[in-house]
Amino acid sequence: MMNNITDAFSKDLLAGKVAIVTGGGTGIGKVVAEDLVAHGAKIALLSRNLERLEEEAAAIRRTGAEAAAFACDVSDGDQVKRAAEQVIAKFGRADILVNNAAANFIWPSEKLTAVRWRKVIDIVLNGSFNCSLEFGKHMLAAGQGRIISILATYAWTGAPGFAPSASAKAGVLALTRTLGVEWASKGVLVNAIAPGPIDTPQTRERLWPTPEMERKMLAGVPLGRFGLEDDVSALVLFLASDLGRNITGEVITSDG
Ligand code: NAP
Repeated sequence: MMNNITDAFSKDLLAGKVAIVTGGGTGIGKVVAEDLVAHGAKIALLSRNLERLEEEAAAIRRTGAEAAAFACDVSDGDQVKRAAEQVIAKFGRADILVNNAAANFIWPSEKLTAVRWRKVIDIVLNGSFNCSLEFGKHMLAAGQGRIISILATYAWTGAPGFAPSASAKAGVLALTRTLGVEWASKGVLVNAIAPGPIDTPQTRERLWPTPEMERKMLAGVPLGRFGLEDDVSALVLFLASDLGRNITGEVITSDG
């Protein structure tokens, strides 16, 4: 990774910690996982496509770090329970959970099917709940832990074409604030990050495929730049480390 802003953090910021990243084989989750590892954490990657995850875990292990991949559909509570047990069996602990996995159908609401609506709610809202609960149990037993969910700024505003995702993210926001208070006295800090548009190959293809659409999107960003993956991972490192020890139930927005 070149010129990563997270180089500003100490390399042993998260030494000895075990981090779990859902959807850690692609896009933002992949960079978050790599940055957690680069700052001392051992990493468990969870998503459905085990082949892709194994490739990412192998690439991380080649750097000398510890990494393992676990096939898990986060919308399925039983699969998440099993994955949490596997992670604990492999690494012995769970210190940091990043709820990053998501799906999206960008579609006019009147044309949405109930199946598509439920799919997004299942992955984003129920998936974040399942993972927070199953990994949270181990954190509560240990008396410490950090849960960080990746939202989107439309959790507050909604956005045309994004009804399922916006509704699910708003639910995760409420879950974050609720668990933040419920688990504060038990040492488990629960926060979220709300990115605006992040420049990834997928967003370029899906959200601003033409120069004209890119100009329109950028016109809505006062800083005049799209965020990068490490704008998100820098906040994950901050919230996952001692730097974030006095913050819980909070959402940090990074949208230019
Ligand atoms: P992405 O590349 O499409 O990644 C989504 C990941 O979620 C994939 O790795 C996918 O892996 C995993 N996933 C999907 N369904 C799953 C399931 N049922 N169980 C387990 N894993 C599942 O997305 P991204 O753009 O990097 O976004 C990452 C996060 O940032 C998301 O929460 C997104 O809403 C948020 N965000 C992104 C932007 C942006 O501009 N990119 C802006 C704001 C917020 P498998 O297919 O292997 O399961």
